[in-house]
Amino acid sequence: MRKEKIAVCPGSFDPITIGHVDIIRRGLCVFDKVIIAVGHNPLKMDLFTTEEKIAMIRKTVESIPRIEVDSFEGLLVDYCRKVGACAILRGLRVISDFEMEMQLALMNKRLCEKIDTFFLMTDYNHLFVSSTIVKATAAAGGSVEGLVPQPALEKLMEKFPQMMKKQHP
Ligand code: ADP
Repeated sequence: MRKEKIAVCPGSFDPITIGHVDIIRRGLCVFDKVIIAVGHNPLKMDLFTTEEKIAMIRKTVESIPRIEVDSFEGLLVDYCRKVGACAILRGLRVISDFEMEMQLALMNKRLCEKIDTFFLMTDYNHLFVSSTIVKATAAAGGSVEGLVPQPALEKLMEKFPQMMKKQHP
């Protein structure tokens, strides 16, 4: 029997956005299973706890089969080995993503020859969408409706009650 092809999609997911969901959905066209793995990026200040992030992601993907949600600490390649993944799935938006993503991919390859990083180009409509801009906009009272899945929108509204619910024209 063919071995199941598992990809790990790691990230901060602070919070999950429509950009993440799109990459994960498209990853399922290539891989048998995608594990969304919430990690902590020491370069970023988190708004949500790991438990909150996982709860938002679980609600978002509950109707999509072949997805698992988990968290990890330490080396990503160790986590990939533990869950039997053959690939790391990442998204690419702009040239500024590329430099960091290339460094990460090459370092992970050096740490574990067997695990490759696969990149999917962002959808044109998600080019500007990032967790960082979503948080900054919500904190300043702007609407992020349509840019994050409903469970994330609800959590953002809890954190930032000043956020307007209505879509801007
Ligand atoms: P990290 O802190 O590890 O970069 P993120 O949660 O910010 O975690 O991103 C996880 C992955 O999702 C990264 O590969 C990132 O490039 C990708 N990603 C984030 N937003 C988008 C988007 N709008 N379109 C495509 N990929 C995206």
